[in-house]
Parts: sequence; structure tokens; C-alpha cells
Amino acid sequence: MEFNIALLKGDGIGPEIVDSAVSVLEKIGEKFGHKFNFTPYLIGGCAIDAVGKPLPEETVEGCLKSDSVLLGAVGGPKWDSLPGDIRPEKALLGIRAAMELFTNLRPAKLYSALKEACPLREDLVSKGFDIMIVRELTGGIYFGERGYRQGKYGLEAYDTECYSETEIRRIAKVACETAMKRGKKVISIDKANVLESSRLWRKVVHEVAEDYPEVTVTDMLVDNAAMQLVRNPQQFDVAVTSNMFGDILSDEASQLTGSIGMLASASLGETKRGLYEPIHGSAPDIAGQNKANPIATILSAAMMLRYSFDLTAEADAIEKAVDLVLDSGLRTADLVGDSDTKPLSTTEMTAAVLERI
Ligand code: NAD
Repeated sequence: MEFNIALLKGDGIGPEIVDSAVSVLEKIGEKFGHKFNFTPYLIGGCAIDAVGKPLPEETVEGCLKSDSVLLGAVGGPKWDSLPGDIRPEKALLGIRAAMELFTNLRPAKLYSALKEACPLREDLVSKGFDIMIVRELTGGIYFGERGYRQGKYGLEAYDTECYSETEIRRIAKVACETAMKRGKKVISIDKANVLESSRLWRKVVHEVAEDYPEVTVTDMLVDNAAMQLVRNPQQFDVAVTSNMFGDILSDEASQLTGSIGMLASASLGETKRGLYEPIHGSAPDIAGQNKANPIATILSAAMMLRYSFDLTAEADAIEKAVDLVLDSGLRTADLVGDSDTKPLSTTEMTAAVLERI
């Protein structure tokens, strides 16, 4: 099969880690008989330097005509003093909006080889964990009606949590489809004991679940979910939740893996086209030094194969190669910690993954 991928390398370590992921995709192409065509576009600080804005129209058009998009990271001290609307980070919101991405998928996986990086007690994570948080990205309180008004006690400010059936239905569908590709278990997280919007959320999620008889869908209140994540993270497979709850819980879950350089993400819309990126930033402190951990971006490319292109065996091959690299004790500097292990460079880590595909 043939796929067109838009590459948004961005700033800082972005170009180095995207190049690593590209070489992994090329290897997958060779091994499984696919052709990936890569077209680079400017985004972030490098776009400001070249054309005076962080998200040029050409980039948006290129992404919209591609089959999927791989992003490195944007931003850095060089652009920090610019006004908000022409800062590199503004391009991230712009491209997500232009691609109409309403879902954020954030895996939080604890590799058994990296258990010591987890801040939880060993007996709580003895079997590792592998959680996929499905967060609604374009609705809820971050986008609801807001304002200031005079209230009983003087000036007050308000924000509104509002979800339509359509918004809930489409995110619930993504959660069930995602679960079908994993452990077939969805935990829907809400606050239905207090919030009307959560009661609608719960009702619609269960209506959608009827179309997925193989998937077990249960509910959990968000306060309990925050506790269960640190008490027994192994119980989660797919967790689906609203924009704000997902924002908070996905950061909590990612911290449990202890390693920012390992965590991938995907943002998806109605179509198969998605935006895939590591969760970390442009790491200006190590940019250009061949020190960055490329695994989060390599795993983002694996997510692209799985969720945009339905290439499950190919995605598995990348994830398995990463497992093998870690099991064999190979580490980039961010994973070495205080141990005596000699860290691999970005290119050495990439080569180690390529060897195991
Ligand atoms: P950061 O994620 O870039 O870095 C935090 C720390 O983690 C640094 O010490 C960095 O060296 C380290 N780190 C991050 N990724 C790593 C990797 N792959 N391998 C090894 N170490 C890694 O966060 P920050 O320092 O707060 O932000 C730096 C810049 O990135 C800022 O301009 C910020 O706005 C931007 N940013 C961009 C995105 C994005 O593009 N999606 C996300 C977050 C931050």
C-alpha cells in the first residue's frame, strides 16, 4: 500500500526525532511492502523565521491533503518573547482545529524494563500497565459559555460544561473502536453523581456500547478514577472521558510511566487522517546534540500505522522492537538516571530499534 505523510519537524529536537521515526517507517515499508511518501512542511518557530507566521497556509493545505501527519515539537527560547498569537505553540491549536481533531489518544504504558522509573510501589505495578486515555478534545468546559457577571457576593466568573449527544457519541465510538484493537474493555469516566452533562455522557456512552457487544463498558466517577490510577493502574485498558477530566487524568497517567521521552499521542477526527506526536516539547536544552530519546516519536509513528492506516502487524513490529531494545538494557540519557549504563545517542537508539524490526 502507498501512503502520503506530512512531516512537521518543528523546532529544537523535533527534526532529530522525526528523522528517527521516518527511518523506522522506511524500514517497515521495506519489510512489509508499503511505500511511504514524506513531504516536510514548516511549523512553529522555524516557520516564523522563514515566513513570519507559525502556521503557514501551505502547511495546513499539505496536512489536509496528506493521509496522515507526523509532528515533532515546536517552540524554544528564541521565540518566547513574541506576542501570544504569533508564538510557535499557537500553531498546534491551529493545526488541530484545521484538521477537525476531536479526540486525543494518549497511551501510558509502563514497560517492565523501566519499572524502576515508576513512582508507585513495586507491588502495585508488578505486571506493568498499558492504559489508553481517550480524551474529548474540542468540547466541554474549555469551549463552553463563559464570562463575568454580578452575583450575590459581587463580581463572579463562570465557565460552562456542555456536551451534545453528537459529541459524546463520536468520542464513545472512538473509545469502543480503540478497545476492539486492544483489550476490549472501556472505562467511561464522568461525574454523573453531580453533573447533568455527565448523566447525558453516561447514557450516550452506553447506547454506543450496544453496537460493540464484544467490548465491556463500565462507568467510574472521576474522583475514584484519579485514585484508582495510583491504586491499581493495571485495571485500565481504554479510559474515555471529557476534555477537562482527560486533561488532568492523562497527565497523572503519563507521570506513572516516569519517562517523558517514551510517550506518544494521536489526535483524531471523523476521517482516518490523524496528527501523531510525542507528548514532550522541543527540549531546547538538548537540541542538536544527538541526545534526545526518539522512542516517543517512533511510537507515535506506530500509532499512525495502527489508527490511520489499519496496519496492525506493522505497528506491532515497531512496538515489539522497542520492547526488545529496552529489555536488552539499552537506554538514552533520559532513561539512564543514576545508573552506570552508558547512554545511547538518538541515532544509536534509532539503529537499535531498526535492527530489531
Ligand atoms: P520539554 O518537554 O521540551 O522538556 C522538558 C524536559 O524533558 C527537558 O529537560 C528536556 O530535555 C527533557 N526531554 C523532553 N523530551 C525529551 C526526549 N525526547 N528525550 C530526552 N529528554 C527529553 O518541555 P519544556 O522544557 O517545558 O518546553 C520546551 C519548549 O517546548 C517550550 O517552548 C514549550 O512551549 C514547547 N512545548 C512544545 C510542545 C509541543 O510541541 N507539542 C509540548 C510541550 C512544550
